[in-house]
This record gives sequence, C-alpha cells and structure tokens, in this order.
Amino acid sequence: MTVHPAERTTTGAAEILERQRSRESSARTYARSFPIVPARAEGMWVEGTDGRRYLDCLSGAGTLALGHNHPVVREAIQRTLDSGAPLHVLDLATPEKDRFTDALFATLPRGFADRARVHFCGPAGTDAVEAAFKLMQTATGRRGLLSFGGAYHGMTAGALAASGGVATRTPVPGIAADVTRFPYPYPYRCPFGVGGEQGARLSSTYIQRQLDDPNGGIVQPAAMILEAVQGEGGVVPAPDDWLREVRRITAQRDIPLIVDEVQTGVGRTGAFWAVEHSGIVPDAMVMSKAIGGSLPLAVLVYHQDYDGWLPGAHTGTFRGNTLAMAAGAATLEYVAGQGLVERAATVGALMTARLEALRTALPAIGDVRGRGLMLGVELVDPEAEPDACGARPADPQTAVQVRAACLERGLIVELGGRYDATVRLLPPLIISDEEVEAVLDRLTDAIATVTALRSPGASA
Ligand code: PMP
Repeated sequence: MTVHPAERTTTGAAEILERQRSRESSARTYARSFPIVPARAEGMWVEGTDGRRYLDCLSGAGTLALGHNHPVVREAIQRTLDSGAPLHVLDLATPEKDRFTDALFATLPRGFADRARVHFCGPAGTDAVEAAFKLMQTATGRRGLLSFGGAYHGMTAGALAASGGVATRTPVPGIAADVTRFPYPYPYRCPFGVGGEQGARLSSTYIQRQLDDPNGGIVQPAAMILEAVQGEGGVVPAPDDWLREVRRITAQRDIPLIVDEVQTGVGRTGAFWAVEHSGIVPDAMVMSKAIGGSLPLAVLVYHQDYDGWLPGAHTGTFRGNTLAMAAGAATLEYVAGQGLVERAATVGALMTARLEALRTALPAIGDVRGRGLMLGVELVDPEAEPDACGARPADPQTAVQVRAACLERGLIVELGGRYDATVRLLPPLIISDEEVEAVLDRLTDAIATVTALRSPGASA
C-alpha cells in the first residue's frame, strides 16, 4: 500500500533511499553512486540526513561556482522573493533579466560582446546546444555538423548525436546521421597513437584535409561544435594552438564555430570563459550550469550576423526563470569581482602539481590533467604493459572502488572519461586552502588504500 508522505513516520536515510530506488527510473544516475540523502549544504560541505558531512567535489556536475547556498546567491533569491516579482514570465522583459544580461555581457570575451545576441533557452545545457544547431542550420541553410570524439553536449537528440558516448548512442539508431566526428587531441590516449603536440598537429591537419578533400565525404556543414576542455570525456584540455588552428580552418571555410562552455564557463578553468586561454572568438557560445547560480538557466550567445531565425524559432515555457536570473547575475558579478577566476587558476595549478607528485608513489595514477579547477586523475592498471604513448590500460574497477572509498572518507567525487576511469574534481571556486588539503588527503588515502588492497602481494 502506498503511504502518503504526510502520514509517514520514518524519514531515515535508508528508507528514503530504498523508496526512491524502487520508484525511480532505471536511468537514474548519480543516486546510484552516492547513497546519501542531502539535508543541508553550505559552501563545499553537504550534510546527509544521517548527520554525515561530505566535501563536495562534484558541485552539481560543475554547476556550483560558489558552492552550495552562498550568501550572495541566497541574498539575491531572498531579495527577489521579497520584491513580489513574478517567478514565471515566459520570456518577457524583467529587471532581473536585464541585470543578468548586463552581467553576462560584461564577462564575454572581447571581440564577441559588442556584436553578441543572447537567446534564453529551456533551462538545460542540452537545450542551448539544440538552439545553437538550429540557429546555424537556419543561418547557413546547411544541415550537417562537425564534432569530436570524447565530446559531451547533452542528452536530447541533436546534442546526443554530436556527443561521443557510444553506450548512450547505441540504443538510439540513426541518431548520428548528419554528424562527422573528428579526433580530439588527447595526449595520454592519442587517437593517432603518437601523443604530445604531434597528436594535436595531426588532428588539425586531418580536419583541414578532410574538409578540403572533394572525395572526403563531408558535405559543407552548418557548424562545428567543441569543448575547449572536454569535461565528461575525461577532463581533456585542448591545446591553445590547436584551438587557434581549428578557428582558422573553420573561419576560412565559412563554418560557424560553436564553443560549448556549459561546464567550462564562469571561471572554472582559470579564465572566465575557457576560450579566453587561446584568445579565439567563436561564432556562438553555449552556456548553462554555473550561470544560474545553482538554479536552472541556459543561454546561447552568438554573433548578430547569424540572427536570422524567425520569432518563436526556439521557444519554450521555462525560459524566464526570475529566481535563476537573479541568482545568476549575483554569481557572475561575484566571480568576476572577487578574483575567483584567478583563484581557480592558482589553486588548480597547485592541486595539479600535488596530484602529479603522487604518481611515483601511486602508480595507479596514469595521468593527471586539467585546467583551473577542472581536474582529472586517470586510473590505470600499473601492472599492465604501456602502449606506444606510454599509457597503460584504464582501470574502471579500481576507479569505482576509489569513488566509494572517497565517499567513506567524506569526499564526493565522480568518474568520467573513456572507460569511466577518470576521477573528476570540480570543487567550487571558493574552496579554502584547508579544504584543498582535506580533498587531497582524502583522495590520496582512498587511492592508496584501494590500490594496496588490489596489488598482487596484498593480503586482503
Ligand atoms: N555540454 C557540456 C559540455 C556538458 O558538460 C553538459 C552537462 N554535463 C551539457 C552540455 C548538457 O547540459 P545539461 O545536463 O544541463 O543538459
């Protein structure tokens, strides 16, 4: 018999977890890996209903630039609630939207802001990706798209088609009909088997030659989409030179370049937008996650020359979330005004160096990479033979155990990347020095314990 929530006497974590497990879709995701029931959160800390506290290095999959419930965000939400402003306004003009747009445009890369248009999308990154494709298809009258292996752009049809995940695309036949995928530079698991800068050079040469080959099979596409740092693909940063080459190649061939900044935006990589590292100016940028200050918001920003789509071309009911605009504006202003971008760069470099230094003692760490506070630690089988680039086989089993061992130690980290063997760290930009130490200590101890138990001579 179903018990009405109001009549329940038990609200213990175990009961809640079990009820949700039995009633939710089998496609549920994070709830599988993290059997916790968050009740309170502040900054980097999350507290479960059972009183256990965790350092959150997942941050809503990179959403929480200011951590949980930052005072600036709470104040913006509270002020908006107290003002009596309508919370739902479709896409009508509001003071909150005005302030958000001001704050957003103030952050845009130079050379982009002065000729940019913004489109407010349904509140998920994937909808802004769909909007970007539709915009460029409308503007160019072309259909095909160029994307990259390892990419992640979302779960709706177009975004999924442009993504690299084979497991998520396999059950949806025909979905990738109009997408040409190029190899993304990934030194550790180089798609050309050479690694380093040479691998990146081969990637750009290959793109250029394929596009120019009259028998290469690529019909002039509507756009190319890429991430400047692949997030879900395993925290793989593209070299700046490669990005500049790709920008040159696409511009010369009249192919609009869409940069997906859903995860890399708002200071995460040590620049406000990740494109700023290379200085490229894209034709469109897709943004979500951190721009809403922890509430749902997604936008497409693009060069006004492409603004030829019709009124209502990408409509949607939830494109005017007043609270998200207020929380988002406050977040953008705070990140820009408080030096948090620079802090992400400094703290990220320090954490990378510390993790890198662990590789000798912990040979299961195959590769450490990232940019700013978007870090990845790829776990490998240290006993196996390395390939031509020096990479050993990924070890997803160890990675799952490390994630669980981190949770036991009060640290939330998620996995990603090829074979799901990369531990991803996405701490908030407000992480303190003490929290950095605690994250590194817990992660080191988790990897050391799991790999000691798994090593051949270990007595389990
Ligand atoms: N693009 C990138 C780069 C992402 O990381 C994500 C989400 N992880 C998306 C798009 C999709 O965003 P959403 O989950 O909000 O649809």
